[in-house]
Amino acid sequence: MSFSSDVKKELSNVKPEKSCCALSELCGLYASMASLNLLGRGQVNVQFSSESLAVCRRAYTLLSQALHIAAQIHYVSSARFGGKRKCVLTLGPIQSPVLLCALGMMEKNENGSVSLKSTTPRLPLTRGCCMRAFLRGMLLGGGTMTNPEQGYHLEIAFRDEESRVMLAKCMQRLGLPIRISARREHSYLYLKQSDQIVTLLTALGAHTSVMHIEDLRVRRQVLGTVNRAMNCDSANLQKQMNASSQQLEAIRQLIREDRLSTLPPSLQQIAMARLNAPDATLEQLGQSLDPPLGKSGVNHRIRRLMSYFDDSHLSGGIPHD
Ligand SMILES: [Zn+2]
Repeated sequence: MSFSSDVKKELSNVKPEKSCCALSELCGLYASMASLNLLGRGQVNVQFSSESLAVCRRAYTLLSQALHIAAQIHYVSSARFGGKRKCVLTLGPIQSPVLLCALGMMEKNENGSVSLKSTTPRLPLTRGCCMRAFLRGMLLGGGTMTNPEQGYHLEIAFRDEESRVMLAKCMQRLGLPIRISARREHSYLYLKQSDQIVTLLTALGAHTSVMHIEDLRVRRQVLGTVNRAMNCDSANLQKQMNASSQQLEAIRQLIREDRLSTLPPSLQQIAMARLNAPDATLEQLGQSLDPPLGKSGVNHRIRRLMSYFDDSHLSGGIPHD
């Protein structure tokens, strides 16, 4: 199962915070996955469709809890959806007006009949709880999330200007950025940072999915730290090896030119120690001397040895102890 469907499954089971929130979530579901069909003689039906059975079940439950209407549930499989099976909920001409009036899309006339006044939901979202519920509905109906193991990307597709305005208002309330993009004929709002995705999913109640993302994020951070430490260690090691091979080369040359014996005894001693232990660190070299010498003492002697080597190849001078 994809991460997207895991998140949707989890969100489908979140209990609405308050009784007002069920209708707000239905509004998000309607805006992202429902269609309105005109049947003639003023009659309409409404269909919710999704590839996710969990999402359709959610819509079914909210319709019956908030509005006491029952939808018919069935599957269609169509070549248009690439042979995929889609779950469809249908509200008939009796039930549809109940939902459409609740969403502010239909109005009751004085004579008791209803008329359509908008093809998009007109629900004033003012409470924080209802804004979160609306976002949950939009994410269930039109959301997609990349598996956090592959990267961070969450998007919510929307179909009209009203949805864009409502989405923006809700995202702003959560302190999230409003980034909009379009692909072919679809527009969508997206988040690309893990902490923003975590903020959104936490607000919507997908705590298990959030834990999964956090867990991966921590693992990735630890791995990054270990890698950096290893790279740093190997860079230091390389530096040390380069220095050691320069020293060995200088010492061998001095021996070849029979000049090592002309050096002060302390420098001869350190040169021999280095020849015997090409891979040793400065501390290890110091420990091998008799009497032992500290790191800075070893460093000082090696520098003198090297500067003597450099100088002697320019002027032939001999250092004094
Ligand atoms: Zn509410």
